Amino acid sequence: VRFHDLNLPDRVLKSVSEMGFEYCSEIQAATLPATLEGYDLIGQAQTGTGKTAAFLLAMVSDFLDYPVEEERARNMARGLIIAPTRELALQIADEAEKITQNCSLNVISLVGGMSYEKQKRALETERVDILVATPGRLLDFARSKKAMLNKVEVLVLDEADRMLSMGFIPDVKSIIRMTPHKERRQTMLFSATFPKDIQNLARQWTYFPKEVSV
Ligand code: AMP
Repeated sequence: VRFHDLNLPDRVLKSVSEMGFEYCSEIQAATLPATLEGYDLIGQAQTGTGKTAAFLLAMVSDFLDYPVEEERARNMARGLIIAPTRELALQIADEAEKITQNCSLNVISLVGGMSYEKQKRALETERVDILVATPGRLLDFARSKKAMLNKVEVLVLDEADRMLSMGFIPDVKSIIRMTPHKERRQTMLFSATFPKDIQNLARQWTYFPKEVSV
């Protein structure tokens, strides 16, 4: 499947071709038709499969199709991506910057082990369209209402099995409780493995999900 054959906005297609992508990877071809329609997703995929672009393309396309509402405050995230580690979060943010390079969506990363003050400043001065975060730091900012999650339209949980093994599930649960109910958001969950605990959480957090394994 070529990206041009999918129903992607022109500004997204332009970025995709500038990134040098022409053909969808397997996970992208298997998920985008459903996620572009707004369906929830439970995806089994390892790093290196192109899962990052798979969820970012669905998220960004959705935001471009539906303009931001007037009454939305600047610090209310539209898209929220939660990842277990700083390295992964920064990689995702980097890819998000590339995919949004031809549109006006702003990407902010809130990750542990980096300057709290800089991140606080970004939240105070920039619009929060897409938030890429690790659980602990995000919870700090969300609890102090510096970042608002009550208008999240698209939620991504990346590497859910690693979030479990690193002990982040309680934080992730607190974060998800601050977002709209699952019927009123799109949720995409990715994990390399699906032990029972992750299967249960995935069911709990998604609404009639499409399930894909590559
Ligand atoms: P990921 O599995 O998301 O970490 O992606 C692995 C690498 O593949 C990243 O460097 C992506 O930029 C790249 N990539 C993702 N999708 C495609 C594609 N359709 N064509 C070529 N490269 C891609």
